[in-house]
Amino acid sequence: MDLGIAGRTALVCAASKGLGRGCAEALAREGVAVTICARTEATVRQAAAEIGAATGREVRWVACDITTPQGRAAVLAACPQPDILVNNAGGPPPGDFREWDRDTWIRALDANMLTPIELIKATIDGMIERKFGRIVNITSSAVKAPIDVLGLSNGARSGLTGFIAGLARKVARQGVTINNILPGSFDTDRLRSNMVLRAKAADKPVEDIARAAQQANPSGRFGTPSEFGALCAYLCSTHAGYITGQNLLIDGGAFPGTF
Ligand code: NAD
Repeated sequence: MDLGIAGRTALVCAASKGLGRGCAEALAREGVAVTICARTEATVRQAAAEIGAATGREVRWVACDITTPQGRAAVLAACPQPDILVNNAGGPPPGDFREWDRDTWIRALDANMLTPIELIKATIDGMIERKFGRIVNITSSAVKAPIDVLGLSNGARSGLTGFIAGLARKVARQGVTINNILPGSFDTDRLRSNMVLRAKAADKPVEDIARAAQQANPSGRFGTPSEFGALCAYLCSTHAGYITGQNLLIDGGAFPGTF
């Protein structure tokens, strides 16, 4: 299927690896001019070169922390008027809420709620003027079913979800869609580091914990960044203009609800 977005521009945040990189690669494959960012220069530069080599498209890169005002200014200088914005950042750490002070909460809110809102604020009016815009926020299955040790994620991402539900309806007439993709368990470094923590807590080999987690999923496996990227690219396509304000769970069937 031709997604109809060749020649469009995209800013994909936090994309040197994992889910963000899956999105950047899928968009570049469709002929989108992609700019990626991540914190470490060597890593983000190498990721851009690898995506470029795999897709035959030049991928621009910015080394910055997207959760800071300076980081956002740097990516917006490199890609001021994207047609497509994919919001992503590292997830907050696990823990018990009794250990989290105000600063810990502010960091989680900055990364997983306020940074996406700031980037939307900086780019949405251009999308409205051009009568085409696609915004995808990478959130988490934790928004649909809370994960007990990830209270910071449950809270901060739900705040973003509530805000997006309102905003999406305000810009739908202008050709701009805003959707959230909710990943379940995807085979990325983030998932692997969570497995290591769980293995330590259970005093078991990490391979046993990973195998058990895969077996507990109806699909019997973890998802892949390329599967995630393909859904993101479809939501950014011309065909998805009537899908907005949605929370799309992609979890191999892990959430046990009928709807
Ligand atoms: P990952 O660790 O594999 O990759 C994260 C990417 O973000 C890397 O490129 C990293 O350099 C970049 N990054 C992190 N913080 C950044 C910052 N402040 N500024 C710029 N770049 C930054 O992680 P992932 O698994 O791809 O996860 C992406 C998001 O999805 C996270 O918020 C994570 O919590 C969430 N999530 C992941 C899963 C999963 O199973 N992998 C499930 C639910 C939610």
